[in-house]
Amino acid sequence: MEIRETEVKISVRSLVEFILRHGDLTGAAGLPSVEAMQLGARIHRKLQRLGGPGYEAEVPLSHTTILIREGRTLAVKVDGRADGIFTVQDGEEKLAWIDEIKGIYQELGSLSEPESLHVAQAKCYAYMYALEKELPRIGVRITYCNMVSEDVRYFEQVCDFAELSVWYTDLLAEYGKWAFLQAEWKDGRDASMREMDFPFAYRPGQKELAMDVYRTVLREKKLFLQAPTGVGKTISTLFPVLKSMGEGLTEKIFYLTAKTSTRLVAEETLRLLEARGNLVRSVSLTAKDKTCVLEKPDCNPEACPRAKGHYDRINDALYDLLQKEQFLSREVILAYAEKHQVCPFEMSLDLSLFADVIIGDYNYVFDPTVYLRRFFQNEKKQPYVLLADEAHNLPDRAREMFSADLYKEDFLAVKRLVGAEGKRLCRALERCNRDLLALKRECEEFEEIDSVGALELHLAEYLGECPDFLDEHPRFRAEEAFMQLFFDARHFLEMCGLLDEHYTIYTDYTSEGHFHLRLQCMDPSKNLQRTYEKVRSAVFFSATLLPVNYYKEQLGGTEEDYAVYAPSPFDPARRLVLGASDVSSRYKERGEGMYRRILGYVRETVAARKGNYMVFFPSYQMLEETYALAEGEPYEILVQRAHMKEEEKEAFLRAFERDPEVTRVGFCVMGGIFGEGIDLTEDRLIGALIVGTGLPKVCNEQELFRTYYARMGKDGFDYAYRFPGMNKVLQSGGRVIRTMKDRGVILLMDDRFFQARYESLFPREWLPVNRVRPGELTERLREFWGRKEPEEDVPEIPGEEQPE
Ligand code: SF4
Repeated sequence: MEIRETEVKISVRSLVEFILRHGDLTGAAGLPSVEAMQLGARIHRKLQRLGGPGYEAEVPLSHTTILIREGRTLAVKVDGRADGIFTVQDGEEKLAWIDEIKGIYQELGSLSEPESLHVAQAKCYAYMYALEKELPRIGVRITYCNMVSEDVRYFEQVCDFAELSVWYTDLLAEYGKWAFLQAEWKDGRDASMREMDFPFAYRPGQKELAMDVYRTVLREKKLFLQAPTGVGKTISTLFPVLKSMGEGLTEKIFYLTAKTSTRLVAEETLRLLEARGNLVRSVSLTAKDKTCVLEKPDCNPEACPRAKGHYDRINDALYDLLQKEQFLSREVILAYAEKHQVCPFEMSLDLSLFADVIIGDYNYVFDPTVYLRRFFQNEKKQPYVLLADEAHNLPDRAREMFSADLYKEDFLAVKRLVGAEGKRLCRALERCNRDLLALKRECEEFEEIDSVGALELHLAEYLGECPDFLDEHPRFRAEEAFMQLFFDARHFLEMCGLLDEHYTIYTDYTSEGHFHLRLQCMDPSKNLQRTYEKVRSAVFFSATLLPVNYYKEQLGGTEEDYAVYAPSPFDPARRLVLGASDVSSRYKERGEGMYRRILGYVRETVAARKGNYMVFFPSYQMLEETYALAEGEPYEILVQRAHMKEEEKEAFLRAFERDPEVTRVGFCVMGGIFGEGIDLTEDRLIGALIVGTGLPKVCNEQELFRTYYARMGKDGFDYAYRFPGMNKVLQSGGRVIRTMKDRGVILLMDDRFFQARYESLFPREWLPVNRVRPGELTERLREFWGRKEPEEDVPEIPGEEQPE
């Protein structure tokens, strides 16, 4: 029989956390050990120093176990770093001790025993060390340190090597079941990926693009890709990375998106690859509240039957599913979660360990509060590739993830809620409240400050009080205000650990007069780079990643990384871009005359061809004021309202039907729900008319950005206003052309579009923008629409059009 040997690597922490977990799912309220990033690391270093000269800190240890099953051999390498190793004279012998340090917020007195997973981690290191040094006995110490008081409590036990050896062998035998399952899957997958062919006829430039992506992965770089509509960006990026998986370069792909619609395209593409017999296992991560079995997630054993004993059942559920299913869709996960009575959301997160492609929101990878710790908590670089779709959204999303807010009123409200039931907790809340009150007294309207002072420590104290309080008063887990403040404070404290020159701290008041403290991440590049250090490569792509160097810089790209402008395979004859320079959205020029001029352009545009159009305004106010004058216009108007519900949004889009009997014009807001992420293909939308340059309103926050970037030697106006504004313009214009078969017109209405600084931000394929005046449109449009329908541009494999 042929013996095949494969090496499998796993960290000590991942091993014990996966194999030995048990009991209930307690969500955040259980707070096993909330380790704030910087604070936890500092406590570790301090305790390690206090260990004295004989104390060895951060000792790397590893052990490889050979497992054999049905003609196949797995060499399972388990590794990690022991926090500390020291020896103590014990009678005649010198006894070695493994020290496992945990920084926690709980009161040390409330701990009756160490957490079993912490002991298991230490026992793994103890086994490895005792084996290497041939020790018959070894000590295991768990050191808990309260991160606020810095008090320390030890739990100690001495283990016989023989017993440790049996324990470790059993642990590895249990892990072997999973390792063999995964190794067999990977063999099949890699062979399948090597043989996989590009599933469509290549469009012009698409092969080169796929090669650029492959080269990026091969050379372990990042790629910033301006990918115009028609490029087929999903398959052009996924396919080469899947090929690199077959070559052993990539182990996992994270397909990251900002919106559900893009996620669906990635799922569709993977389903298509699977339908063609390719072995690729993908999982889509859906938000907790969309998969929860309760009306609203309340993840604790009292409220949710799935949470009770979840960890006792989850591994059987996973094993069952993985043996039978390949495509880990939401429906499949829900069915198996039901069968085994486990939490579907947690199950989907666990399945990501076994998936080749993980599809989900950016925050699963970048958000320091909710990221998938199982992949990104290790310092080491892993063979992961990030594919970030709609990457123009990422700078703002990242800025938000790395920023944090606190409201003074929330502390008072929770203090009132807790009342006499929690005196210590109330005292902690009051200390935070007083810190905020002091800041409030210094703030008239808006104030930049240097630091949050003692609030950081007081927040840590407040968080330290929460676990015991919740244990004694579990009903507060269901109190939204209580839990929200807990999460906000925890996030705020974590962000305090990241504060540096990329941050501004300020205080101000909400429109309701609430006092607000914000840690504003101005430039997310450095924080994003921390994630890149843990992955092999990243590809950022969007149809509006312009100017690409701005995005490259904001997203933490370096000189060595690549930027590519993919050529558009779209026939320019199918799109007409016109500009009107006698319109302006500047505040001082707004008024009835301007609105009537805009309506005149709309009337003239839609008169040239019956169909569906959208007009994008810079604000609801301008939209409403123009709409108020639109009575009697010879077309049907649909108006976007603020805060539309999902059903209202769907009804709005449904009205944009194929082959319409009347001309329908949607009055929408640039940067709103219809300005991005909607796909009204072919004649469901034949024109986008854009009013103004989309510049954000001047406000304190935008002014902060302007001055911050000016201080950095950049053009502050570009960073704070022009680039974000023009991105909204490009996105709105981009709604017209969604597929290779679309045809449509874009009318840009503002004199600034003809200034070089704005014009330089247009995609190449929009240029030149032909200037028109009232009355000149009709002729241009008649000529455009009068052209014979161009032949279909690019042959596709019949019945299988490329998803974008
Ligand atoms: S089913 Fe819902 S409430 Fe229950 S554990 Fe899962 S997410 Fe939480």
